[in-house]
Amino acid sequence: MADCTHLEKCPFFNDRMQSMPATADIDKKRYCRGEFSNCARFRVSKVLGKEKFPSDLLPNQSDKANEIIAAG
Ligand code: SF4
Repeated sequence: MADCTHLEKCPFFNDRMQSMPATADIDKKRYCRGEFSNCARFRVSKVLGKEKFPSDLLPNQSDKANEIIAAG
């Protein structure tokens, strides 16, 4: 278990999303301070640049992340 390298600037971790899900605290514990390499935001950020990054993507949206990554 480790902290995500995006912790300081990530809008999700810092409650700066347009709407935060009810599960935000659980997701922060699970992804941001744990298995961050499985976080949808983390995975997409490694592939897409900031310009194309979907700001509303949530850590647990794996399917959406896969689609975005596949579409390039
Ligand atoms: S795990 Fe995902 S949501 Fe959490 S800080 Fe990293 S990129 Fe952001």
